[in-house]
Amino acid sequence: MDMMTMNLSDFEEMQKTVNTVLLPIGMIEAHGPHCALGTDVLIPREFVRRLEEARGDRILMAPEVAYGHSWGLAPFPGTIDVSAEAFGNYVLEICRGFHQNGFTNIILFNGHGGNISSLDIVTEKLADLGVRTLTINWYIDYREDIKKIAPDPGHAGEDETSLVLAIDERYAFTEGVGSHEIPLAKRFRFKNGGIALYPEAFSGNAEAATAEKGEQLYRMMVDLVLQDIDTLWEIEQQLERG
Ligand SMILES: [Zn+2]
Repeated sequence: MDMMTMNLSDFEEMQKTVNTVLLPIGMIEAHGPHCALGTDVLIPREFVRRLEEARGDRILMAPEVAYGHSWGLAPFPGTIDVSAEAFGNYVLEICRGFHQNGFTNIILFNGHGGNISSLDIVTEKLADLGVRTLTINWYIDYREDIKKIAPDPGHAGEDETSLVLAIDERYAFTEGVGSHEIPLAKRFRFKNGGIALYPEAFSGNAEAATAEKGEQLYRMMVDLVLQDIDTLWEIEQQLERG
């Protein structure tokens, strides 16, 4: 069910049976010289399209939050950075709105690493309000399986670039892009540190990306996402049984 195109009567009808909403969360930021600035929005959108086919009868697909927080990539052109505090509060307000509309299961489908610490705080607050949440950070949660298909993942790396190519080959290129490893542990932090960590605004072997790998990655991960969503519903049932 697509909230963007639903009218009020459709929404009220749906509310009678559906209490799970999926909110995609992204970022507009530099993704190397080779991937779309909207990569972190495009990938969650593609997951939503596939999840809608599989579980659209039980989940309301909400319009995405396209702008997030990126301290690391903020020095690069094309990054539109919202502070962690403003971003977290905004997402919390949106989720409270869904809760007021009767949604007690909220799935945050996050496409961007810089959002994670804010979303951790948001989900703690939501849990205290009685909302059950599942946060999906696909590039972390499914990393070991990702590496079987795309061995050198990263920010706009082999995995992300492949996932973009699988959506539309015009949204990324690989020729001459090469490979970059992060030269320093992320726990060292200093002014404009992102430029030292991501000299070309990406990490991993982007040159090895292909649309075919992207398609394999989507299929593999959609199954894992569906398993995670089933676990969220099992938790709901267990809590209701008390
Ligand atoms: Zn990204």
